Amino acid sequence: MHIKLWGVRGSLPTPMSSSEYETILSRALTEARRLYQEDPSRTADQIFEAIPDPMKHVIGGETTCIGVNYRNTAILIDLGTGSRKAGEALAKRQDLKDIHILITHTHWDHIQGFPFFAPAMNPNMTLHFYSCVPDLHNRLIRQQHPDHHNIRFEELPCKTRFTTVKEGEPFQVDDLKISAQPLIHPGGSTSYRMDKGNQKFVFATDTEFYGPELSMLVRKYDEFFHKSDLLIIDAQYSLPEAEMKRGWGHTAMTIAVDCAMHWDIGRLGLTHHEPSHSDDTVRELFARAKEYLEANNPHQHRMELYLAREGDEYLL
Ligand SMILES: [Zn+2]
Ligand SMILES: [Zn+2]
Repeated sequence: MHIKLWGVRGSLPTPMSSSEYETILSRALTEARRLYQEDPSRTADQIFEAIPDPMKHVIGGETTCIGVNYRNTAILIDLGTGSRKAGEALAKRQDLKDIHILITHTHWDHIQGFPFFAPAMNPNMTLHFYSCVPDLHNRLIRQQHPDHHNIRFEELPCKTRFTTVKEGEPFQVDDLKISAQPLIHPGGSTSYRMDKGNQKFVFATDTEFYGPELSMLVRKYDEFFHKSDLLIIDAQYSLPEAEMKRGWGHTAMTIAVDCAMHWDIGRLGLTHHEPSHSDDTVRELFARAKEYLEANNPHQHRMELYLAREGDEYLL
């Protein structure tokens, strides 16, 4: 499985502001000058290479869309605004006739990119939708009502198929076994697990692990998440925000780390970043989550921790 993150921001698309960009650029130029003064024989490429990662890579402002390529099979999880670029990439694959789309839920940030999804304009393309939402088709029709968009869903040239999936009833895409698990989120959300042999990838966003019942929740979800090779999970908040926004359906970074340690996860990706957080704030929260993992990991847990950034890729 080749996994690519096309959108990692939560709730609302969040383009970087000019002032935030200026701050990062100014830091990069200062660092470049220091590197040059240290060794004037360095080329521009070598200086760029030596500049720290946060000055070169943004976290990204597109909302949730995850690409999974397995052999020649194309799968997407969610159609947030990141799906516009995912669609452009998929539209270039001349051989591609089917795309499988798993929808976690239909909050705007998980479907809003679909009206701009290029493969939907291809009459030779079939889009296979999977969701726990029984009326997903109607919800997508509503999203493209002429009051909101210039092309109706029913007028799209592509063919569409809808499958309602259920907890405890895995289904097959290519030879991947896919299972669904309801999460804790206002209006509901679904986690998807993909099994191939002994490899396991789980995507679980828009879920709230918090409160006095946390240890019970960790036990309840253990079977589904246990020993995932890669888990990408909602980690929108700081701990004080999670307390302030109880019932909003999202998890604090440190709690996500805590839960993942219990589930014996191999690699943990933290996603669905809060739109009001700057890149600096998200990176600060991530640094604290890393410290938390190191401080609370007396048994040298094998887990590797990743901050999900737009464009990041994982191989499984
Ligand atoms: Zn969301
Ligand atoms: Zn949501």
